[in-house]
Amino acid sequence: MTFAELWAELLPVGRDEFTGGYRRYSWTTADAACRAWFARTATQLGLRTDCDRNGNLWAWWGRPGGMQAVVTGSHLDSVPDGGAYDGPLGVVSAFAAVSQLRSDGFRPARPIGVAAFTEEEGARFGVACLGSRLLTGAITPEAASALRDGDGVALADAMAAAGRDASGIGPDEDLLAGIGAFVELHIEQGKALADLGAVIGVADGIWPHGRWRFDFAGRADHAGTTRLADRQDPMLPYAATVLAARTSAERCGALATFAKVVAEPGAANAISSRVQAWLDARAPDEATLDLLVSQVSTAAAAAAGQHGVAVRQHRESVTPPVSFDRGLRDRLAAVLAAAGIAAPLVPTGAGHDAGVLAARIPAGMLFVRNPSGVSHSPAEHAEMADCETGVAALAAVLADLAAQ
Ligand SMILES: [Zn+2]
Repeated sequence: MTFAELWAELLPVGRDEFTGGYRRYSWTTADAACRAWFARTATQLGLRTDCDRNGNLWAWWGRPGGMQAVVTGSHLDSVPDGGAYDGPLGVVSAFAAVSQLRSDGFRPARPIGVAAFTEEEGARFGVACLGSRLLTGAITPEAASALRDGDGVALADAMAAAGRDASGIGPDEDLLAGIGAFVELHIEQGKALADLGAVIGVADGIWPHGRWRFDFAGRADHAGTTRLADRQDPMLPYAATVLAARTSAERCGALATFAKVVAEPGAANAISSRVQAWLDARAPDEATLDLLVSQVSTAAAAAAGQHGVAVRQHRESVTPPVSFDRGLRDRLAAVLAAAGIAAPLVPTGAGHDAGVLAARIPAGMLFVRNPSGVSHSPAEHAEMADCETGVAALAAVLADLAAQ
């Protein structure tokens, strides 16, 4: 089975006909169709499929448990109106690489696994990499059980509706103990490779990142009768904070984004009583991230004071930096160099299942060039020839890691 054939099968699943974006949220009908595709593909390749207690999918070439397995894969879920490549590229490439190794007559000395982790984007239940976090114990079953989607549906009920029993969610030490290395192939979510003229990159590490909620509380009033001087408009310090975050991020060599904002009461002719806004901040190291967030906080407090508005700040999540296993990282680079594939080291500001798994097992990542650099959008793209190079790179890596 070629990459193009596998890609074409998965492409229509969960795509919105109006936006062209994907809405593959965990435990929905689109998710079930992705899972069915995974099982069908694995079966066609002669792999044994399994769904673990946390809902992550596995396809095995050889029996896991004895020799330390080599696992590759990514995720099939999407953000709202996400692109086709973020996640599925890694899963489709994994199957295509296995198919290539099979037709090359390769005989692995250790098991090879293909994984698809559930709820990587956190689009339904709000916690990114939920499947790999549960597997590794990075989130407790109790905390996961308390998660609800936007309609108030609990994770356990969503899983039950999809025919899965959620009573066993949580760390799976036996499964982890059988894995010697995890390599995730992913579309690059930036333009570093395009700028370097390279098709494939090896991940250097993942920037620390986090999410903070700012609550600006003012006073609702009439937009047509309240003099400017008499207003306590929370929208104004919010706006100043957005601009301050941008300036600070530029100064720090970091990234800061306000992309989600809720204004109450939300009437076009009323001054808001309250504005809630979420800061997503990412930086090359923790000290820079702390500096960036403290600068944004200071700016928010100063702007709120000027407008008679109260501001409170809540840290919702912070993920420390991930350094991928150096031995594995260097081995990936060496294997690709030997295969004639130039693969520079690139850092990333995005979180991934490989980053979660890296806390427990040697993990690494390969990136495939994304010429536009756009991600989490239908405009996300990779050329077919680059995807095929990705498959060749992954096949070379699997052959090396599973050879002895
Ligand atoms: Zn992804």
